[in-house]
Amino acid sequence: MKSHVSRSPRIVGKISVLIPVYNEEDNVVSLSDEIMSILSGYADFEIVFINDGSKDNSLQLIQDLSNKNGKVYFISFSRNFGHQNALRAGFDHCTGDIVITLDGDHQHPPGLIPEMIDKWIEGYDVVFTTRKEGGEVSLVKRYTSSFFYWLIGKIADVDLKKGAADFRLFDEKVVHAVRGLKERDVFYRGLVAWLGFRQCEVAYTPERRRGGVSKYTYRKMLRLAVDGISSFSFLPLRLAAVTGFLIAMVSFTYVFYAIMIKLFSDQAVSGWVSLMAGVYFLGGVQLIFLGLFGEYVGRIFMEVKGRPNYLVSAAKLPGEDK
Ligand code: UDP
Ligand code: MG
Repeated sequence: MKSHVSRSPRIVGKISVLIPVYNEEDNVVSLSDEIMSILSGYADFEIVFINDGSKDNSLQLIQDLSNKNGKVYFISFSRNFGHQNALRAGFDHCTGDIVITLDGDHQHPPGLIPEMIDKWIEGYDVVFTTRKEGGEVSLVKRYTSSFFYWLIGKIADVDLKKGAADFRLFDEKVVHAVRGLKERDVFYRGLVAWLGFRQCEVAYTPERRRGGVSKYTYRKMLRLAVDGISSFSFLPLRLAAVTGFLIAMVSFTYVFYAIMIKLFSDQAVSGWVSLMAGVYFLGGVQLIFLGLFGEYVGRIFMEVKGRPNYLVSAAKLPGEDK
């Protein structure tokens, strides 16, 4: 990845910035100002806010911004569809030659954008960012996140960078490829590694969330982790077969042992307890793997139904403002 891309420098055309927003009323205005001042040095840009069913005043503020400034657009969902779907909606509607995604809470410093664009000019098609250790990320988040990246690195069929964040730059052709993907439960962090193209990494120190609280509850983080693992790995399913086989071997040995005792000694097996233990154990293991199968079957079910990933209730889309 380090190898220098030797091509003539690219000319920066239009830049799209996509910002998923869920209850970020304390941040949208300041963030928009900050991005605007950074991008004003470039030829052309658009900022697209994706309001993911915010219950606070975010939408009103975004609409005001958009009315005041012709470069600010928005897509507003009918309810909360989740961060990854907000990103998808942004990809579906942006019109830039360069597309940048970042969080709506100032944790992804917009100051890094020029450096990311410079990488694109050098010829990279995907510039992804990784969180440096430290910074203003809570301890629990840091540990759960590094555990997750360790786990997915071990079991999934995809190479995920530790601390990968949803703060990235994509060339237009990559966005085009992403739009063409049909899968429903998108896990962009894994997908980016899967996509290929010329990729380059920029490290950053996350800032403190400026206003509001984290919208990633533990439930949502778990959901994201399960999505990530199940969309890139069959290992959990294979685990069922392996565990089943091992348990069967153990029980065969036990039965053999019991028969031997019966035949060659007078200590008859009075093993009610061990019997029950075996039954409960097997029952538990079966239920666990039934649940795992359920995860995958549920996913197939959702894919087959082909429901849209999000519903739009209001929008001012790039390219439609006349
Ligand atoms: N977000 C969203 N929908 C959700 C949860 C989060 O659009 O259901 C947005 C949120 O507004 C923010 C970004 O996704 O812009 C990342 O969320 P957050 O900062 O709460 O996550 P954390 O930084 O704590 O991982
Ligand atoms: Mg955040």
